Amino acid sequence: MDLGNGKNVAQLVVMQPSLSSGQQSSCASKSGKGKSNCGSAAGQGDLSPEVWEKVKNHPCYSEEAHHHYARMHVAVAPACNIQCNYCNRKYDCSNESRPGVVSERLTPEQAARKVIAVASSIPQMTVLGIAGPGDPLANPDKTFKTFELVTQTAPDIKLCLSTNGLMLPDYIDQIQALNIDHVTITINMIDPEIGAKIYPWIYYNKKRHEGLEAAKILSERQLLGLEMLTARGILCKVNSVMIPGVNDLHLVEVNKAVKSRGAFLHNIMPLISAPEHGTVFGLNGTRGPTAQELKALQDSCEGEMNMMRHCRQCRADAVGLLGEDRSNEFTTEKVMEMDVHYDLAIRQAYQEHVEKQRAEVVVARNAELETLAGNRSNISILIAVATKGSGRINEHFGHAKEFQVYEVNTSGVKFVGHRRVDNYCQGGFGEEERLETVVRAIKDCVAVFMSRIGHCPREGLLKAGIEPVDRFALEFIEQTAITYFREYLESVQRGEIEHIQRGDAAIRQGALTI
Ligand code: SF4
Repeated sequence: MDLGNGKNVAQLVVMQPSLSSGQQSSCASKSGKGKSNCGSAAGQGDLSPEVWEKVKNHPCYSEEAHHHYARMHVAVAPACNIQCNYCNRKYDCSNESRPGVVSERLTPEQAARKVIAVASSIPQMTVLGIAGPGDPLANPDKTFKTFELVTQTAPDIKLCLSTNGLMLPDYIDQIQALNIDHVTITINMIDPEIGAKIYPWIYYNKKRHEGLEAAKILSERQLLGLEMLTARGILCKVNSVMIPGVNDLHLVEVNKAVKSRGAFLHNIMPLISAPEHGTVFGLNGTRGPTAQELKALQDSCEGEMNMMRHCRQCRADAVGLLGEDRSNEFTTEKVMEMDVHYDLAIRQAYQEHVEKQRAEVVVARNAELETLAGNRSNISILIAVATKGSGRINEHFGHAKEFQVYEVNTSGVKFVGHRRVDNYCQGGFGEEERLETVVRAIKDCVAVFMSRIGHCPREGLLKAGIEPVDRFALEFIEQTAITYFREYLESVQRGEIEHIQRGDAAIRQGALTI
């Protein structure tokens, strides 16, 4: 298909090597009140047309879409009105962003130009979010001006706002008027006693409030804002940071409270806590959860509402598919030099092509699932996958900076998270220390899929009891995960191998550089 500008769809695919061809599931349910999970097969047929339209190509609101579509953040909101013990504003917020410095703070005009430049270069970029580095609603003029400018040129881009919720009730009308259809509120507690351990102070009504009083005001404003948004049909996601020993047990109550107020999706994220971040929790030794602690909490909440498990805790200036960051390609200096042509027809044609790829993945997965029909077993395994994001196994083991983790059992296959690692291969050589960190990150997995792997890491993985699998190179992840599981199950049933419960795994806590 000719897309104009001398490019066709095939060329654009080559231009976008990280373009995904996807997976099966969606984060969505009909109203935000139904039961469905991020890794399930919930999709167009499970949703009202209105909700499907909002989530179908939103990489954060749909797990399936996140393999296909990109998002970007613009850092136009530097000020914040609360202090969180997991955040150090010298760095990005470790809740919404990776703990690295925001490269550039932008004016609304610079931000709008950047958005149009990215949308012209990355046709699967469908979402603009403002998430900091402070709080968007502590900087309302800059935030709303940016959205206004972008909408004038690119009305097809979905607008998202991520806030601590303190000022939310005051801006509902503006949010609705600007068609900001996705709002994320970070809610870590509904009990002020717990809140006082997370928030030392807030600044509200021209006054600083501390301790219980601060947490009480914050919680009331967050829940009120959530109710007001959902009453107007605006999709709301709630982010919660899981802080072991502080709010981990309490988050089940938070989950019930936000569900009852109509939240569409709950995103429970691990606390990222290391001394080098300079946060209160980092410095006082409060640890983040392990992979299995996080999964157990997400699993226990999943029956209550839709859970997001694919959040990458992005930088406040991230660009690209989740899990990649192309922000360096779009610095203000580079954007000013770019010859930008925003062409809606090209974007739509490209996205139609993406949808075809997405459908192929679903068909392949469902056909493979048929082979498990009638086979019932309690065995469930985790598989780690090295992928560049095409929904295929297309990454060399040594190049992977993240492994996607899938849970497979006789009910099917679902994405349950990702694990960040230092890539094993450095300048053509493997590093033993790095292999250890990879093993720590995926040791709850039975196998790891990759397109290629060298002899040394293969041996190291086998020694750690993780099977390296490269025979499915370039094939669809979910389809082959089911194939592997079926063969694994048959081997167990024939008594050739013994299925053993795996140990726990570590979530990366140190500073991230990408
Ligand atoms: S921080 Fe999470 S919700 Fe926000 S853009 Fe990144 S993946 Fe999406």
